[in-house]
Amino acid sequence: MSDKKTVRDVNVKGKRVLVRVDFNVPLDDGQVADDTRIRAALPTIQYLIEHGARIILMSHLGRPKGRVVEDLRLTPVAKRLAELLGRPVAMAVDCVGEEVEAAVERLRPGDVLLLENLRFHPGEEANDPEFVRRLASLGEVYVNDAFGTAHRAHASTEGVAHLLPAVAGFLMEKELNFLSKALENPEHPFVAILGGAKISDKIGVVDNLLGKVDALLIGGGMANTFLKAQGHQVGQSLVEEESLPLARELLNKAGRKLVLPVDVVVADRFDAEAQSKIVGVEEVPAQWRILDIGPATVERFAQELYVAKTVVWNGTMGVAEFPRFAAGTRAIIETLAESGAITIVGGGDTAAAVHQAGMVEKMTHVSTGGGASLELLEGKVLPGVAALADK
Ligand code: ADP
Ligand code: MG
Repeated sequence: MSDKKTVRDVNVKGKRVLVRVDFNVPLDDGQVADDTRIRAALPTIQYLIEHGARIILMSHLGRPKGRVVEDLRLTPVAKRLAELLGRPVAMAVDCVGEEVEAAVERLRPGDVLLLENLRFHPGEEANDPEFVRRLASLGEVYVNDAFGTAHRAHASTEGVAHLLPAVAGFLMEKELNFLSKALENPEHPFVAILGGAKISDKIGVVDNLLGKVDALLIGGGMANTFLKAQGHQVGQSLVEEESLPLARELLNKAGRKLVLPVDVVVADRFDAEAQSKIVGVEEVPAQWRILDIGPATVERFAQELYVAKTVVWNGTMGVAEFPRFAAGTRAIIETLAESGAITIVGGGDTAAAVHQAGMVEKMTHVSTGGGASLELLEGKVLPGVAALADK
C-alpha cells in the first residue's frame, strides 16, 4: 500500500483545494479525441465536490514551451469535463494572476474551476520559486492526482507540495498501490515482460527487475541486441551496438531467468506492407529485419505466464502499429486476459495496444503513466510522490 496521505486524510470542506490532474489529452479539431485521462481523474473530483471543497484544477497540455499557444488551450477539456460531471466547469483565463485570483474568490463549495495550461508559463517546467508561490497562493490544500507527470519535478507537480498540505488523489493512490505493491511484495511466480524499441530505454528496468522476478521475458526491438549478444545474426534488425557489452553482462547475470525469442517475424523492409515470414532466431536472412516475435516464442512466454501469480508488462512485442506485426503483442494481451494472475500494464504504446484490443477491463491495472510507470519499474522515487505528506 502507498504510504502517502490521500484526500481522505485531510479536511477539504469549504477549502480552496488546488488539484494537479493530468489532462494532457489528444485533441482533434478543437475537440477532446480521447477522454480516458479526464475520466481517470473523476473519482477525486467527485469526492471533492461531495465534500464541499472549492476545486481548482490545473494541468498541462502538449508542449507550448513557456508561451501561449492558442491550439493548446484547455477550453475543450473544460467542456468535456463539464459533460462528464454533469455540472458547469469554469475556465480561467490563465493559471496565475489577478483575474485568476478573482475567479477563485468567486468559487462556492462544490464549484469547479479549471486553470489555463500551466506550460504557457516557463516557470512551470523550471519549477521557478516565484511561479510556485503564485500557484500555491490560490489554494489551501494541494492534491496531486497526476501520476503521469509525477516523475517530473515541475512547479505544479513538486514545487507547490512544499508550500501547502500535500496529499495524493485517488488515481495517484491506485497507481502507487498497484505498481509499488507488485514490485515490493509480489505474489510469486512474478514474471515481467519487457519489449519496445530500445534496450537503452529499459536497461534500468531490466537491472531492477532481475533481482525481483522469477522470469523476465524479452521481446520487441530490445530483444535483438540480446540475440546478437548471444551470437545470432539479426540481419537489418534494430540493434544498439553500444549496448552489446551490457547485454552480455545481463545474460551472464540473469542465467535462465532471461527468456528470449526462439522464433521471430522478419520483414524485407520497415513498412506496414512489407513481405514477412516466420523464422527461427538462427535463420534471420541478412537483408531482412525482425519486427515481431513468432508463435513458438508466444508459446514459450505463455508457459511462464500460465503459472505466474503477478505479471508486469512494459513495451510491445513488435511493431504493433503495423497490423502485420501486431500478432505477438496481441497474443500476449490475450494470454494475460485469460490469466488469473495480477496483471499490470505500463507504457504508452503498450497501454494503447491493450485499449485497441478492447482488453483494458481484463487486466488488473493499466497504468495511465508511461514515463512515470517506467521510472517506478526502474526503482526510482518519483519527485511528485516524494513531496507528498507521509501517512
Ligand atoms: P511503451 O510506450 O509501452 O513504453 P516503447 O515505446 O518502449 O513502449 O516501445 C514501443 C515501440 O517499440 C513501438 O514504437 C514499436 O514500433 C517499437 N518496436 C517494437 N518492436 C520492434 C522491433 N522489433 N523493431 C523496431 N521497433 C520495434
Ligand atoms: Mg512508447
